[in-house]
Amino acid sequence: MTSAKYKRILLKLSGEALAGPSGYNIDPAVLEKYSQEIKQVTELGVQVAVVIGGGNIFRGVSGERSGIDRVQGDYMGMLATVINAMAIQSSLEKHGLYTRVMSAIKMEQVCEPYVRRRAVRHLEKGRVVIFGAGTGSPYFTTDTTASLRAIEIEADVVLKGTKVDGVYSADPVKDPTATRYSEISFSDVYEKKLSVMDLTAFTLCQENNLPIIVFNMNQPGSLLRVVQGDSSAGTLIK
Ligand code: UDP
Repeated sequence: MTSAKYKRILLKLSGEALAGPSGYNIDPAVLEKYSQEIKQVTELGVQVAVVIGGGNIFRGVSGERSGIDRVQGDYMGMLATVINAMAIQSSLEKHGLYTRVMSAIKMEQVCEPYVRRRAVRHLEKGRVVIFGAGTGSPYFTTDTTASLRAIEIEADVVLKGTKVDGVYSADPVKDPTATRYSEISFSDVYEKKLSVMDLTAFTLCQENNLPIIVFNMNQPGSLLRVVQGDSSAGTLIK
C-alpha cells in the first residue's frame, strides 16, 4: 500500500501525550516523533490539519479544583493549546514542512486567526494547519474542536491518536479478554458505552457522517498505515 485512502485528514493529538513520561510540559522526543509521523503522511500528498490538546499544561476542570473559576480556567486551557500548537509548528518546520497555526482566540503577533476559508486554502497549498485555542469557547474540549473543525474544513476523517491501538470491548489494561474492534458503528459505541470521545464531539461526528479512527500515535508508522487504509492499524467508527 503506497497510496492514501484519504485526501484530507484531521489529526487529534492529546496535550498529555506531548508531555511524554513526565506528564508535564513538552517532551522534545515526542515532538520529534510526531513530526516524523506527520511528514510521512504529507509525503503521500495528504492534506493534514491538526488539533492538539492542552492537558499537559492546564485543564479548566482541574483548575476549578484549585480555586480557579471554571471559565477562567477553560480560557487558560485554550491558551495552553496554542503553546502546544506553536511547539508542533516549530518542530514540523524543522522537518521542512510548511505550516500555519490558526487560533480561535485572536493573537495577531503569534498566529493567524481561524478563518475557515483561509484554513482550506492553506491545506490546498500543502500547508499543515494547526488549530489552536480550541473552539474559542469555555465548556468545550479539544475533541469537540477536532470534530467541529473537521466538519468545517470537510475532512474525510478524524484520526484520534491515543496510547492504544483502537477501541476495545473492555479496558485492555484491566481485562485480558478485551478484544479490539477493527470497525464499529456510532450506535454500537454509544450503546456499549465505549469511550472514544466526549459525547459532544462524538455526536457531532455521528450527525455529520464523519468517520473517526482511533489508533496508537506512539506506534511508529501507525498514522501512515491508518491513512493508507490498513484496518489492522486502528478502529474505524462510522
Ligand atoms: N478548552 C475549552 N474550550 C475548547 C477547548 C479546550 O475551554 O473548545 C479548555 C478546557 O479547559 C480543556 C483545556 O482547554 O480542559 C485543554 O483541552 P483538553 O482537555 O481537551 O486537552 P487534552 O485532554 O486533549 O490534552
